[in-house]
Amino acid sequence: MRAMKDKSLRFFCSIFLIHFFVSFSAQEIELDSLSQSSQDTVEFFTEFELENERLWHGSHPADSLYFGNWNTEKVNPYKVKIDSLPDSLCFACKEYVHPLESTRITSNFGLRRYRFHYGIDIGLNVGDTIRSIFDGQVRILDYEKNGYGRYLVVRHSNGLETVYAHLSKSFMHINDTVKAGQPIALGGNTGRSTGPHLHFEIRFLGNAINPWKLIDFEKKQIRSDDFFMVKTDAYDHKSILDELAKACYCVVRSGDTLSGLARRYGTTVSNLCKLNRLSSKSIIRIGQKIRWR
Ligand SMILES: [Zn+2]
Repeated sequence: MRAMKDKSLRFFCSIFLIHFFVSFSAQEIELDSLSQSSQDTVEFFTEFELENERLWHGSHPADSLYFGNWNTEKVNPYKVKIDSLPDSLCFACKEYVHPLESTRITSNFGLRRYRFHYGIDIGLNVGDTIRSIFDGQVRILDYEKNGYGRYLVVRHSNGLETVYAHLSKSFMHINDTVKAGQPIALGGNTGRSTGPHLHFEIRFLGNAINPWKLIDFEKKQIRSDDFFMVKTDAYDHKSILDELAKACYCVVRSGDTLSGLARRYGTTVSNLCKLNRLSSKSIIRIGQKIRWR
């Protein structure tokens, strides 16, 4: 029975990999169908990784989990939906080193006005040392004027990826390998930032996890040597993301009023007020972004 299960799994993986190579440009990788073929996703991924290594000898960390996708430009090039992630997975975190000295949290993971904040902000002094939290390889080094500023993305051997943003200087190049605790950059205030801080994200297959789930930022230590990720807990912010994905916005033009906008978009003034945290007496300005759904 066990042998049959192994055999069919290997067959399934091979078919899947062939399919993956053929449809490399597909918009979304359906991990759903994979995890359904096994009761235990952790066991399944071990099998999948073994099979995968036999088929292509990946040259980047956790290549098997990332289907060999090593994109050096986009933070989330994978387009794997949260629904498609495995139900549970264990990440080895024993080698953890805290990324910076400061413990001054200035903003947490979660909804921030109309946007979702995919990381945690920690205040620092420009020039403070930033360290890689695990072993890995630098996947992105880039500069985003209106966003991350100078930033680094590191793929770790345990399968997680981390983002370090608003840096003043990077010591790394794309494809450089890093050790846990190795200084990779200096903290700064670049990009869309209102004061020197590190914006730090943890992602798995492109989907951000609240860093507090793994790390105690006050004690500057990892919570456990193994992070057992249970999807429903790690992605308990999914309902907020789903709501945001449904959101529609318009830009206020000359002569617009709340009641006029409500009529135009088939909604009510009270709904517009609720969505935009306005009162019915609020004055709207030309160029203001208003959410109508
Ligand atoms: Zn931030």
